[in-house]
Amino acid sequence: MTRQIEETRETRGETKENGRPAPAQVQRGLPPRVEMDVRHVILVLSGKGGVGKSTVSVNLAFALANHGRRVGLLDLDLHGPSVPKMLGLEGQVPAVIGNAIQPVPVTGNLSVMSMAFLLPNPTDPVIWRGPMKIGAIRQLLTEVNWGSLDYLVVDLPPGTGDAQLTMAQQTPLAGAVIVSTPQDLALIDAQRGIEMFRKVNVPILGLIENMSSFCCPACNHITPIFGHGGARDEAERRGIPFLGEIPLDISIREASDDGRPIVATDPDSVHARRYVAIARQLWQSITTGAATKPAPRIVIE
Ligand code: ADP
Repeated sequence: MTRQIEETRETRGETKENGRPAPAQVQRGLPPRVEMDVRHVILVLSGKGGVGKSTVSVNLAFALANHGRRVGLLDLDLHGPSVPKMLGLEGQVPAVIGNAIQPVPVTGNLSVMSMAFLLPNPTDPVIWRGPMKIGAIRQLLTEVNWGSLDYLVVDLPPGTGDAQLTMAQQTPLAGAVIVSTPQDLALIDAQRGIEMFRKVNVPILGLIENMSSFCCPACNHITPIFGHGGARDEAERRGIPFLGEIPLDISIREASDDGRPIVATDPDSVHARRYVAIARQLWQSITTGAATKPAPRIVIE
């Protein structure tokens, strides 16, 4: 961990000794600047934790990859990186070739990178100060050799902090997708995310209502445990697209916990189709707008 923090400092151009900017000649040991060849970067956000943001990120990445796109999934949820577990890839150690970290392959056209792969013990709590967090995010953006991608799906931590701002300011984005459960308490936090990204001119691609209703497997009775329709109403109120509802269902939870996301293992199931429909809306809205422009090349200075 210390090594990682020191590397992060070096990446920020600080000396190990005094934390002040290092003179240019001392920075020669830094890895070369990396360009990411990505057509569309999609951020997945939520106002609070536990609303299903990572589950949505993972299933959307599979839906895009199943559609024949080259997809990278970047888990930037530094405090609780859960994507490796959801993919059954815990304990993987990414290969390093030259100065570049290789993302972990999931399928032929889907690969993943997570801070969890780089921590000696991913279950230990990691305390990130703001600048360290920004340095770590920059490292994950600049030192991972994704190759040429159609989509990079980025699972961000909940809230409106350094990670969100770093991504908004340092990468050209297709836009942000916000995940919320239907009840007011979650939606109030989601509103903050929407406002923050509007302020920094990042397009809001839409709002997803997760855990939208619960269908009892015993009696088929539908219970809106967290309410129902709140996210749709909020999207309408704010004039942003509503991308769809995903029910609260045990098969979604079990699939994630087993490391076999539902879109990967049961793509024709009724719930998987919800994620696929959302992914379709996303690629349609992105490709009818941004994709008609030349593919952006991401250069991080
Ligand atoms: P977040 O990234 O917002 O913290 P997660 O994606 O980690 O949330 O989801 C939290 C928990 O809720 C996980 O156990 C996940 O499997 C479960 N979960 C997410 N979405 C659903 C859903 N639609 N139905 C049932 N369980 C879900």
